[in-house]
Amino acid sequence: MLREQSFSVRTTAREQILLITPDVQGALSALTLSDGIATIIVPHTTCAISVNENADPDVPADLTKALRALVPKVRFAHGEGNSDAHFLSLLIGTSLSWPYRNGQLILGTWQGIYFIELDGPRPARKVTVYVNG
Ligand code: ZN
Repeated sequence: MLREQSFSVRTTAREQILLITPDVQGALSALTLSDGIATIIVPHTTCAISVNENADPDVPADLTKALRALVPKVRFAHGEGNSDAHFLSLLIGTSLSWPYRNGQLILGTWQGIYFIELDGPRPARKVTVYVNG
């Protein structure tokens, strides 16, 4: 049986990287105390989820600048004007599969789970954690 737990992320800038490891761990802990693989998704098309350094706040700021620089200088047709955000969401991805043991995410010392806003600010982005069992 697939079980799920969701939480919201509020963003305050157009591009913003937020550490959400405690929120993901909290959702996972509410679902299970066993071992397995969790799937964590953002059900949106202009944000993303990934894992990177959890210590130095300069890293998210640097990555935000680098992501912005990755957007090609092409003429986008999409009328919402946020094709750059769709493009980066496509590159980074909207889901993670991550192992857990005794209901605890197995992360490297310097790893944290990033919520990556690409078309904010938004009052309530959704993140959902799924487990089997
Ligand atoms: Zn759009």
